[in-house]
Amino acid sequence: MTEKKYKSYTLRNYKKIKQLTKVSEDDIKSIEVVGNVLPFKANNYVIEELIDWDNYRDDPIYHLTFPQREMLSSEHYKIVEEALDNNVSEEKLFSICNDIREQLNPHPAGQQCLNVPMFDGEQMSGVQHKYRETVLFFPTSGQTCHAYCTFCFRWPQFVGDKSMKFASKESRDLAKYLQNHHEVTDLLFTGGDPMTMNFKVFRKYLDPIWKVIDKTNIQTIRIGTKSLSFWQYRFVTADDAQDMLDLFKMIVDKGINLAIMAHFNHPVELSTDIVKEAIRNILATGAQIRTQSPIFKHINDDPEVWAELWRKQVNLNCIPYYMFMARDTGAKEYFELPIVKAYDIFREAYSKVSGICRTVRGPSMSCTPGKIMISGIAELNGEKVLALRFIQGRNPDWVATPFFAKYDEEASCMSDLKPAFSEKFFFEDEMEQIYHQKYSDCEENKFE
Ligand SMILES: *Cc1c(COP(=O)(O)O)cnc(C)c1O
Ligand code: SF4
Repeated sequence: MTEKKYKSYTLRNYKKIKQLTKVSEDDIKSIEVVGNVLPFKANNYVIEELIDWDNYRDDPIYHLTFPQREMLSSEHYKIVEEALDNNVSEEKLFSICNDIREQLNPHPAGQQCLNVPMFDGEQMSGVQHKYRETVLFFPTSGQTCHAYCTFCFRWPQFVGDKSMKFASKESRDLAKYLQNHHEVTDLLFTGGDPMTMNFKVFRKYLDPIWKVIDKTNIQTIRIGTKSLSFWQYRFVTADDAQDMLDLFKMIVDKGINLAIMAHFNHPVELSTDIVKEAIRNILATGAQIRTQSPIFKHINDDPEVWAELWRKQVNLNCIPYYMFMARDTGAKEYFELPIVKAYDIFREAYSKVSGICRTVRGPSMSCTPGKIMISGIAELNGEKVLALRFIQGRNPDWVATPFFAKYDEEASCMSDLKPAFSEKFFFEDEMEQIYHQKYSDCEENKFE
């Protein structure tokens, strides 16, 4: 496999992308305007191997990585466009853009407070513990990606405003926390993309945990990553590729399940030789690859695309895991699908594939109480309803209990839905209690 040298393109140097000669002036203007508000980064692999520039307007990966005009409201767009046309100072531009970012719900579903655990009487920065079994860790050095997805719900991590950042410089407190919390079986490294870290840096975060691993109850280590779509060379030709693979093997040899949670949005991402080679290298260590993706307009709102995505993943020995709904943040309106539409696509795709692909669950809505899946559309007592269930709950007892919401073709997230057959959803009173109890512990009273 020939080596490609990583080259990223952001607002500073995107004009050097040769393929932009195929892009209309209007669309280039959109990159400039929207790219000032929402993070923008592409790289040479994405540009050369994944995007079909002759049809860029309909290209899913172009939509996935390049800012689009409609990602901002026309009002916000105009404000930024005018500021750029008037050549306002850098500080002024930053403050205008920051103002807009603040209006785009940068921390949905109470991430900032509700999910941050306490240790020694202090909030642990860069750690989230929402579901009993699983702790999320956000290492500071992994708060970037090989390219940025335009729909990213972690986008505040990538823009200059420090108050929107949420990460941890080191993992010693986490190591202590895990020793004291044996209900935690899963540790999930996330970001950004932790696989942007080189081996030495990643090792530095893992080491304090690894030293005490026998005193914890960790059964699974997960690494959430989009590097298998954006920069697979990381597992093939990079200088430290072998070191990283050896580290994977060390984890597996210890009897711990290592799950690479790979983010793939479209089958085209699975089509190149380099991605296949990277997958083979990872699987050879004994690690598993599980896959997940949100469902979005302009990228993958088609049952055939999903069926092909799952089939290709299974062909490559990856395990389909989640289909998510858009989170209520950033450019959500541009990408979001109504719940009913997402469910129809899921159902149609799911019905086209064999049981081996049906390890996937979804469509799943992440919200303050948990992850809620749409199990179906039904008619009960003459009323059309949506059948729902928790895949994950802030209270584990909520999981796998069926409940119902009024059928609603417009609704696109849980807070749009109204309960059917009752005044409240069964978990609402308890959620309220949890909310108020945590609220009083919380410094920054900033929730959904
Ligand atoms: C999805 C998610 C997890 C993992 O849930 P699983 O069902 O175990 O995959 C953990 N923490 C948070 C905050 C999540 O959103
Ligand atoms: S790879 Fe993940 S964290 Fe990075 S920009 Fe895409 S969605 Fe966001």
